[in-house]
Amino acid sequence: MKYQIKTILSDGIAIGNIKMKNFNKSNLIVENEEESFLNALTKSLAQIDKMIVDNQELSDYLIALKLMISDQTLKKDILDLIYKGSKAYEAIDIAIDKHINELNSSTSIYLKERVADLNDIKERILNNLGENKINDFDKSYIICVSELNPTDLIFYKKDILAIVAKKGGYTSHSAILARSWGIPYIISDIDFNDGENIIIDTFKNLIIKEPNQKQIYDYKLEIAKKNSFKNIAIDHDGYEFLANVSSNIDLKNVINYGFDGIGLYRTELIFMNSDKPLSFNEQYKIYSEAVNKLREKPITFRTFDVGDDKKLKYLNTDKKGIDNYINNKELFITQIKALCKANDGNLKIMFPMIKRASEFNFLKEWVISIAKEDNYLIPKIGMMLETKEALDYILEFKDVDFISIGTNDLTKEIYHINREDALDLYDNYIKDLLTKLKNIVDFCKENNIYLSVCGELAAIPKAAIKFYEIGIKNLSVSPAMIKTLNLIYTDYKNEEKN
Ligand code: PEP
Ligand code: MG
Repeated sequence: MKYQIKTILSDGIAIGNIKMKNFNKSNLIVENEEESFLNALTKSLAQIDKMIVDNQELSDYLIALKLMISDQTLKKDILDLIYKGSKAYEAIDIAIDKHINELNSSTSIYLKERVADLNDIKERILNNLGENKINDFDKSYIICVSELNPTDLIFYKKDILAIVAKKGGYTSHSAILARSWGIPYIISDIDFNDGENIIIDTFKNLIIKEPNQKQIYDYKLEIAKKNSFKNIAIDHDGYEFLANVSSNIDLKNVINYGFDGIGLYRTELIFMNSDKPLSFNEQYKIYSEAVNKLREKPITFRTFDVGDDKKLKYLNTDKKGIDNYINNKELFITQIKALCKANDGNLKIMFPMIKRASEFNFLKEWVISIAKEDNYLIPKIGMMLETKEALDYILEFKDVDFISIGTNDLTKEIYHINREDALDLYDNYIKDLLTKLKNIVDFCKENNIYLSVCGELAAIPKAAIKFYEIGIKNLSVSPAMIKTLNLIYTDYKNEEKN
């Protein structure tokens, strides 16, 4: 049975059994409440010590957690409650929640951020009480939690194939760690059972429950083939390995994995993370940081692509497309100004959902006039090719500097296929799609227009090889897909030789 993923916090593919992780007090066998609390404290501290040894780069963060666990006031509060007759787990709950409420009512962002850390240590101490066997996992698994604590991820990272949680944020500590370790992490409302076998594929926005033998075989093969490569780009002369990102947090992997640049920066994700429009300065800071980190590698920012399922809290956005810019001029102008100021010569601006050249030319002129007003360098200006109209009227688009094919929206528009079905229904449309895309390749060659693909099909080997075959040399994929890109390129080169 297939389900859509609600939110993706870290990309990847995993196949494995679910391990539920809930604190279950009915499992608790505690003889002496005080002693079991003190033991739990000692055990928690020892676990953090082990994490520090294994994760030197996180030592500052982990030492701060140790200080919280060792806090004498907290310890005294808990012991006082136990002496008054509370069970250890109740005392821990009440005392730590009291501190959490104090932090929550503070106006300091720094203190508020500590709430997550206190919750983390609370659960750790609770899980270490009595004979609760909750931490004793024996082999690799897909962890299923209500909310993931960073220390659970740090402690069990070698065993965790993927994470499924009910809540969690893209910029949370756990999500940042999961992305840097390449562990898929999703938010889902679906109910799972302990031990149940599932497949998670964030690239197809897909959860498969009770997968059949063929699905298991195909996914295992894909994972095994991929794992024969390292997380670093192999030589790929004449072809560009580009990355799709949606926040500056993703840049570390783009650089470490040896990508040639960013083919798609989804700026709407930055907008969606805020309750109000971001100011010029806030945006400039983000864009210029990205440009500096990329160190002269090209970086393509897509203007905010909102509408349909991507909503802003402060704006009514019905449909994706150019109307969002015309109806919200201030928002568009502020973004363009911030981008143009951040341009060091390698920044490109790309418009989504373009239908006709008149739309593109209108936006291009608008960008040029904004840049000229403040004497900013005019960036290269291109478009996503992801609508049926743009495909049909491709000959109109001689004035674009570059084109990136968005196969996600394109397959939806032409064949009415959702992202999560793009692979299953692949055979139904790929031949026709390739014929259509070959026209685009020819048009771009004739007019000297740089061409890439940034939709999810670019990371699906059997599709991506076909893109190479028809002459598309530049693929833009999630940084977590670097091994897949290596595999696609190697298979293609081997095929060329034979
Ligand atoms: C696409 O449509 O293929 C694409 C890359 O854009 P998004 O997935 O952000 O809609
Ligand atoms: Mg799109």
